[in-house]
Amino acid sequence: MQHSFDVLVLGSGAAGLSLALRLPESYSIAVICKDVLQENSTNYAQGGIAAVLENDDSFASHVQDTLIAGAGLCDPEAVKFTVENAPESIQWLIGLGINFTRSADQNYHLTREGGHSHRRIIHSADSTGRDLEETLIRATKSKDNIRIFENHVAIDLYKKGDRCLGAYIYNEEKDRVEAFSAGKTVIATGGASRVYLYSSNPSVTSGDGIAMGFRAGCKVENMEFNQFHPTCLYHPLAGAALITEAMRGEGAHLKLPDGTRFMPGFDERAELAPRDIVARAIDHEIKRLGIRHVWLDISHKPADFIKGHFPTIYQKCLDLGIDITTEPIPVVPAAHYTCGGIKVDHNGQTGIDSLYTIGEASCTGLHGANRLASNSLLECLVYAASAARHIVACGENAQRQTVPLWDDSRVDKAREEVLLLHNWEEIRRTMWNYVGIVRSFERLKRAKSRIDLLKAEIQDYYSRHRVNRNFIELRHLIVVAELIVEAALKRDKSVGLHYNIDCPA
Ligand SMILES: Cc1cc2nc3c(=O)[nH]c(=O)nc-3n(C[C@H](O)[C@H](O)[C@H](O)COP(=O)(O)OP(=O)(O)OC[C@H]3O[C@@H](n4cnc5c(N)ncnc54)[C@H](O)[C@@H]3O)c2cc1C
Repeated sequence: MQHSFDVLVLGSGAAGLSLALRLPESYSIAVICKDVLQENSTNYAQGGIAAVLENDDSFASHVQDTLIAGAGLCDPEAVKFTVENAPESIQWLIGLGINFTRSADQNYHLTREGGHSHRRIIHSADSTGRDLEETLIRATKSKDNIRIFENHVAIDLYKKGDRCLGAYIYNEEKDRVEAFSAGKTVIATGGASRVYLYSSNPSVTSGDGIAMGFRAGCKVENMEFNQFHPTCLYHPLAGAALITEAMRGEGAHLKLPDGTRFMPGFDERAELAPRDIVARAIDHEIKRLGIRHVWLDISHKPADFIKGHFPTIYQKCLDLGIDITTEPIPVVPAAHYTCGGIKVDHNGQTGIDSLYTIGEASCTGLHGANRLASNSLLECLVYAASAARHIVACGENAQRQTVPLWDDSRVDKAREEVLLLHNWEEIRRTMWNYVGIVRSFERLKRAKSRIDLLKAEIQDYYSRHRVNRNFIELRHLIVVAELIVEAALKRDKSVGLHYNIDCPA
């Protein structure tokens, strides 16, 4: 089966859908997503989008806050470019009908988050991502020129010489691989946090686009900088459930199994220390004591206060049999955001002709060694716009070459799904244990030798079996794991999110 479009967009989150909507309606566009349209990190974002929207705020201040968070490793030009284009992106969303929260005076309500020196986070109550994704989906579905392919999983890009001509994509329903040809191909497949055992992200974030881009010859940067959220609910049925940092702000204590608080021993600000310090302390205690999680306890506050301030978490925990007004919550840190990715310029160009990358899969230089809160959705929106402008400026939408049919000659012996599941578990546990919040050269080398072995097993499996979604993701995941370990081994200083006990800060 072969398809042909002007533009092939891999991903239906904030980055992918915004790009599709920014292109003229004269373009034929395919939007590919490996699950249903709305299953992506965008849909789960809570806080909001950073932008300078008030007169007493300034671009210079937003730039400065971003540079400080990035610990000296941001690209100042990329930061300036993103910050200065932010208000236009917000206006564009308002034009699409997004329902941002307003204050009593009917102006948009702006919140302030850690690391920002002004109120500049525009939001839709505490579910900005859902409102954003719903707005983008509504607009996308109203366009006749955009065709949506759900449950389609990209396997590899197809290149001829130095030009990307499209991609091979697995159609899950039909259980077959289809060839998609396109004048331009855009990777918008999100981050790679699922490479870790615990992650706040939905299951789609296995770094597929980063792996495909790397295999095609793209430069990948900053993969050692993975942000960990300190408190994610630890429960077999919880899925990716974050416990907001506001709970610590309102007085919740972090405790060991014997009920003692441990944060005062790590930092004088105790539970209110910055995110990285809290995550590192929890990781230290979990590994030191060989326990699976620690406890977050707010039960010393009045029940009405807890229910009033944290209604969603209260209900979520209650549904799982945990009454947070009387008992503590089991929590672990969880991989939250991938700062690195495919290196791109201001237009999302990757260096491979006709191939772009935008959103969390890219490395624009905005985040450096650490992401400033609420800058990530902004990055998706700004680079979707600039990449779309560049695609139009190229004016080559008719120039397509056909991607040949997929070679389906592999022997389809019964797939050993159990072995695949074990590989999944091994990669994610190895990354969590040795390449997580706290690293050392010894741990990284151990991870590398495990990953080399897993890589050989997965390559051997690939040469003998037909693909399915589980396997395609696993093949991408092992590349991402390798990229993170290699990057961490090369860095000789602890900086930003990369903390190696053998290296000075
Ligand atoms: C719980 C949570 C809260 C957050 N809160 C905020 C916040 O308040 N503010 C903020 O700025 N950021 C926040 N973030 C980060 C932000 O949501 C993400 O960085 C952003 O949504 C990424 O958007 P994206 O379009 O790049 O990727 P996603 O939204 O993750 O979309 C990826 C898309 O790619 C598709 N895909 C992946 N692989 C393949 C493949 N092989 N084939 C086909 N399709 C594929 C997926 O199906 C999906 O449609 C949060 C993240 C999480 C998880």
